[in-house]
Amino acid sequence: MYSARLWSVRHARSLRTLYELFSRWASAFAPLARLLGLERLEKILRPIERSAKSLLFDCRMCGQCVLSATGMACPMNCAKEMRNGPCGGVRADGNCEVQPTLRCAWVEATTGAKRIASDHLAHPTPLLPAIDQRRRGASSWIQAFQGRPDPAFQAPVGLRITPDAQQGPLERACHSGRFVVTVEVAPPDSADPGALLARAAKFEGLVDAINITDGAGGNCHMSSVAASAILVAHGHTPVYQVACRDRNRIAIQGDILGAAALGVQNILCLTGDDVSQGDHPQAKPVFDLDAVSLLHVARGMCDRGEYASGRKLQGPPDLFIGATANPFVPPYVDRIANLEKKIVAGARFIQTQFCFDLALFEEFMREVRHRDLHRRAHIIVGVGTLSSAKALGWMARHVPGVHVPSALLTRIEKAADQQAEAKSCCIETIWALAGIEGVAGVHVMGHKNEDVLAEIITECDLRRQTRLHTAYA
Ligand code: SF4
Repeated sequence: MYSARLWSVRHARSLRTLYELFSRWASAFAPLARLLGLERLEKILRPIERSAKSLLFDCRMCGQCVLSATGMACPMNCAKEMRNGPCGGVRADGNCEVQPTLRCAWVEATTGAKRIASDHLAHPTPLLPAIDQRRRGASSWIQAFQGRPDPAFQAPVGLRITPDAQQGPLERACHSGRFVVTVEVAPPDSADPGALLARAAKFEGLVDAINITDGAGGNCHMSSVAASAILVAHGHTPVYQVACRDRNRIAIQGDILGAAALGVQNILCLTGDDVSQGDHPQAKPVFDLDAVSLLHVARGMCDRGEYASGRKLQGPPDLFIGATANPFVPPYVDRIANLEKKIVAGARFIQTQFCFDLALFEEFMREVRHRDLHRRAHIIVGVGTLSSAKALGWMARHVPGVHVPSALLTRIEKAADQQAEAKSCCIETIWALAGIEGVAGVHVMGHKNEDVLAEIITECDLRRQTRLHTAYA
């Protein structure tokens, strides 16, 4: 079946033409279908559709087929069921983070999209809603017989502008025109908030916000929402990271409301690493939403004051919403389409994966500027350092989505003091990033390396600088 799936992507153009003919033909039969009875017709169609599509596409019968919009590659073959583009963990060879022997379903989808139209980036796939779990196993063809359109959702209506006086410190910093610095802190494996506060205290006065990871790497720690609330209570500005891996849309929306009620003003929406990478590989991954549908849900809560179900909120949250981007893994060119989708879905700031490859990042930023994306969201670039070339090499091999060029590894390896050299490389990267048009700031990361990170931020002293070229509309 896997080889048939790859064959379908190779023949995406002909299959798409066939699909369009089928849709036109089927919708012409809508009156007859109604006469026959849609329920009866679905019973007949379902087994035929299942056999034909599982043979050609390894179809999972999600009941909301989007093959025509995803290069004839079924996104339900993605281990995280991402419906709006690749996750940040795609391997350098284009294979899947979770199933390393298989091609990433979204690398295949972009290959198919290119075969259908060479200028596919000019009209990327529409934003797709979170899957309606009730429709699993149902026929999608029946929609064609009913003359229904593709299940694409609309961009959020009317963005609510937060008045200056109500903006949180991170949002104000992003709008101020000076260089922004955020830092990542992992919550502790402890019921005692002391360890968390000790880590946060190292960045007192040095950063604009502290990201609290949500089960990073699929490992269990104190919950991100609780750790964020603790930081608020102690005068810090947290970015509450929300991963889709562990909670469904009901739990996530409840947590977002709870976080806002506890004073959290910033959230970062991400899909999350798979459980297989963490300390509980036996856990059930959820992935009820993906990062893009989560952004849309969060934006709907803030702007329209309603849950994903449409039910009204009594008091909507007012959040500065961000998303992640990873320009350093395949499919490189299509990462822009994914970034644009996140911005359209509601992201107002973007934090990237570790940038160890400036050339690759500059290429990405050229396209960001070409599409004016840096004027629609604040681009904050991930940077960091590790203690040695060995540790950096380990991270490149084992942490999904991290790309470290061999030239950098060799430079650190050859140094007499590897830790000092790695730190110098990080500082050089930060200065180089500060000179790239469209870069709003840096997001400093490095697990259990807080002292060195604080030194780097102090030595760069970038928060005093006006952004060199950025203008945000
Ligand atoms: S690499 Fe990520 S997006 Fe691609 S198939 Fe695997 S889980 Fe899905």
